[in-house]
Amino acid sequence: MKSVLITGSAGFVGTNLAEYYLKNGYFVFGLDNYITGSKENTSYLASSYPKTFLFCEHDVSSSWQPVTSMLLDFCRDKIAPIEYVFHLASPASVKSYQKFRLETMWANSLGLQNAISFADTQKAKVIFSSTSEIYGSPLSSPQRESDWGNVNSFGERSCYDESKRFGETLVYSSNKVNGTQHGVVRIFNTYGPRMSKDDDRVSNTFLQSALASKDIKVFGNGLQTRSFCFIDDLVNGLAKYAASKLNFPLNLGNDHEVSIIDFANLVIKQTQSKSKIVFKEMPEDDPPQRKPDLQLAKMHLNYSPEISLAEGLKRTISSLHP
Ligand code: NAD
Repeated sequence: MKSVLITGSAGFVGTNLAEYYLKNGYFVFGLDNYITGSKENTSYLASSYPKTFLFCEHDVSSSWQPVTSMLLDFCRDKIAPIEYVFHLASPASVKSYQKFRLETMWANSLGLQNAISFADTQKAKVIFSSTSEIYGSPLSSPQRESDWGNVNSFGERSCYDESKRFGETLVYSSNKVNGTQHGVVRIFNTYGPRMSKDDDRVSNTFLQSALASKDIKVFGNGLQTRSFCFIDDLVNGLAKYAASKLNFPLNLGNDHEVSIIDFANLVIKQTQSKSKIVFKEMPEDDPPQRKPDLQLAKMHLNYSPEISLAEGLKRTISSLHP
């Protein structure tokens, strides 16, 4: 039996990715310290896949020694070595990384180094979850992997943006020094079931406000754009990247661009909500535009997102209101 290790397995992407591999016959090890993830997600995986999901509560930025000996014993006795290590552990929403600034920086540096060291003992490939935020306030659109970014190293978003940039460099440098083939994916805004109810990412905030008939708060004039990817499309991209020989950073997301105001109106329509849109001051360093260039993903992985925003919202809403 093949196996994968997922750090951040109790989070939104981690739970969905774990379920993908569990459904495809893999054994999945999950690590999480619940800094932003939920015990409910772990319970869901553990009860749905009791024989093939193993979870350890652990801070990945501290030594993995207590966990690795347990994992290695288990690998030796029961299953094949770990094939992929997905390093997803990191606060990801603006509110959470601003609450846990240093923890965010350690997760994407010390935590990533621990993941790489462990993966190297198993000859496993690490897939580091970087972000569209490494492009900062983009100088052109759509954002291409060759863009170097226009990023503030000393501001409200820096703990996240710069630690992800450091993480990318750590993967690059480790590969050079050790001859490994670890990889990086740059994830663009993703939404779907199993995101924490309190998560302040725009898709979730709008949906929660609409379902509770509260005002939907739009920053600035709402003409800034985002491109929203449904989680199943992202998970497919992650799995394709892992199975490939690619080790350079690749954008994953959906390239259908929508203004925030149009998105707010779509959420209101789909939830049949009575919510009103209210305008609020734009926060510091809020990027005006986000749209992935997916040419490399299409060329190398035959990746293109398939789920429309309307369909993805429908699925997300029904998961919130089964
Ligand atoms: P999330 O907050 O739902 O999940 C992150 C998980 O990591 C949580 O369960 C949290 O408890 C765990 N974690 C954080 N620090 C940890 C530590 N030190 N030790 C152990 N566990 C730790 O966020 P998500 O949306 O699932 O994001 C997953 C990854 O994808 C993150 O690295 C994020 O930066 C990246 N990403 C996500 C998006 C998106 O739209 N969802 C976009 C860009 C990048």
